Amino acid sequence: MNRDKFPAPRLSDVARMERAVAEFLEAAQIQNERTSETPRRVVKMWLEHFIDGYGRKPEDIIPRLSPTKAKDLIVMSDIEVHSICPHHLLPYEINAHVAFLPDGQTAGFSRIAELVESRAHRLILLEDLVADVADVLLERLGCKGVAVRFDTRHGCMVFQGSPRKRTRVDAVALRGVFAHDKALAARVQKTLYR
Ligand SMILES: [Zn+2]
Repeated sequence: MNRDKFPAPRLSDVARMERAVAEFLEAAQIQNERTSETPRRVVKMWLEHFIDGYGRKPEDIIPRLSPTKAKDLIVMSDIEVHSICPHHLLPYEINAHVAFLPDGQTAGFSRIAELVESRAHRLILLEDLVADVADVLLERLGCKGVAVRFDTRHGCMVFQGSPRKRTRVDAVALRGVFAHDKALAARVQKTLYR
């Protein structure tokens, strides 16, 4: 189901989410004075930080572009965000690097970082997310090309312990000129890995 069109759940849905968390704890036979407020806290955390991306539209985050004279690469490094693995409902940490080649216009850098964050705050696999961010950025920035690299660490691997504990997973997506021009692709990849 595409939930992009639903900005915020109804109050009745929030209550239902809280009941589900309470039910989960009850079924696991974990209930004590420390967990009485847990369902409320868990749902608040999820709505505000894990799945708030479903209600955030790219055109609201970057509503307009401003002219730029920049003719060469713009590279943003170390955009630190997190996403949620849809298989295990566990967070993964992302250190995102974004490069683009403007075509006479650009957006504020914090808006670009916010766009990356909004796309990540959904239940989405890394390989789908990196492709999605590259596609959305190319479209919103109206630029000649976008390159995205996500360096990640996944809760569902880390918490299972050795030998996965320190594993990092790297994913790259190239769009526009970077997808077609090998020399440009090599150049932009260098900036993403420095
Ligand atoms: Zn997982």
